Amino acid sequence: RRVLGIETSCDETGIAIYDCTQGLVAQAVYSQVPIHAQYGGVVPELASRDHVRKTLPLIRQVMEEAGIEPGAIDGVAFTAGPGLMGALLVGTALGRSLAWAWGVPSIGVHHMEGHLLAPLLEEPAPAFPFVALLVSGGHTQLVEVRGIGRYRILGESLDDAAGEAFDKTAKILDLPYPGGPALAQLAERGDPTRFHFPRPMTDRPGLDFSFSGLKTFALNTVREQLAQPADRDQTRADIARAFEDAVVDTLVIKCRRALKETGFQRLILAGGVSANRRLRARMNEAIAADGGETYYPRLALCTDNGAMIAYAGWHRLNAGQCEPLGFKPRARWPMESLAVVRDEGLV
Ligand code: ATP
Ligand code: MG
Ligand code: FE
Repeated sequence: RRVLGIETSCDETGIAIYDCTQGLVAQAVYSQVPIHAQYGGVVPELASRDHVRKTLPLIRQVMEEAGIEPGAIDGVAFTAGPGLMGALLVGTALGRSLAWAWGVPSIGVHHMEGHLLAPLLEEPAPAFPFVALLVSGGHTQLVEVRGIGRYRILGESLDDAAGEAFDKTAKILDLPYPGGPALAQLAERGDPTRFHFPRPMTDRPGLDFSFSGLKTFALNTVREQLAQPADRDQTRADIARAFEDAVVDTLVIKCRRALKETGFQRLILAGGVSANRRLRARMNEAIAADGGETYYPRLALCTDNGAMIAYAGWHRLNAGQCEPLGFKPRARWPMESLAVVRDEGLV
C-alpha cells in the first residue's frame, strides 16, 4: 500500500510517497524561504500562491523519480491543520481532487501528529509508550504518547514557541530569516560564561513553558552591550550562545521532569528545533544519565516535509479512516481530539 503525502501548512511545499513495505520511496521539499526572507517572516498570501505554483509540478517530479504511476497510489494524505488557512486549502483541495480522480481515499493529517510520528520512520524506531517533545516554529509541547492517536498534552508554551523565540532573537541579533539555524551557527563561537539568561518556569513544578521573556532579555542585553564599541561581533555570538543555552537547558529540565512524572523511559524529539545540535547533545547526555533513551528524526525530517504526512496518513488510511465529502481544513485543531488508530495496550 502506497500513500502520497502533501504538506502545505506554512512555507514549505513537501511531497513524498510512503510504501508500507519499502518505506519512504521518494520525497522532495521546496522551501519558500527566499520569498519570505525579504519581509522577515512568512507572508500568508504569498505562501498560498507559491504552494499553488509548486505542488503539482513537485508531485509529478516525485512520482517520476520513483517510477510510480497514478494507478499505483492507494491513498492521498494532505496536511489539514493546524497552519495558515490559505496554505492548508491548497494542499487540501489538491489532495482531495487527486484522490477523487484516482478513485482512492484521502485523509487530512494533523501537522503536529506528522512531526510526532517522524522518528518512527527511523531505525531503531521507538516503541510505545513514550514522551514527545514537539519543538517547532509554532509549537512547544510535551505529549504523553501511548499509541497512534493516543495523545495527552502534559505541558506547552504559554506564549512563544521555542522556534519562534529562536527566530525573534535572531532578528534582534540582525541575523537573516529564518533565524533559528543562523543563531545556532553564531552561538558556536560564543563564550558560554559571559552572559547568563534565565531558565523560564523551571523554578516551579509543572511542564508548561514560556519563552517570550528570553527574547526580551536578549533585546535588553543587546541594547546594553552593543552600545559599547568593543568587539560587537563577539558580543553577538556570546548573546546567541547564552540564549541557546537557556532554551536548551529549559527543554532538558522539562523533558526529564516529564519522563519522571509518566514513568516512561523513552523520549522522542521532533519539529524544526529538534535539528539543533546542542539540544541533541545535551538532551542525550541528560536522558542517558537518567537511564532513558532519546529518539529523533533525521535532520531533513525535523522541519516540515511530505514524508511525515505520507507516513501519518498511511497509518490512518490503513486503519480505515478517510474524509467525507464535506471535509474542511482547520487552522486550529487540538491534537488531543484525534481519533485513536491503534491501541498499543494499556501501560
Ligand atoms: P509548526 O510545526 O509548529 O506549525 P513550523 O512548521 O513553521 O511550525 P518547523 O518547520 O517544524 O516549524 O520548524 C521551523 C522552526 O525550527 C523555525 O522556528 C526554525 O528557526 C527552527 N529551527 C530549525 N533548525 C534549527 C536549529 N538548528 N536550531 C534552532 N532552531 C531551528
Ligand atoms: Mg517552515
Ligand atoms: Fe512544522
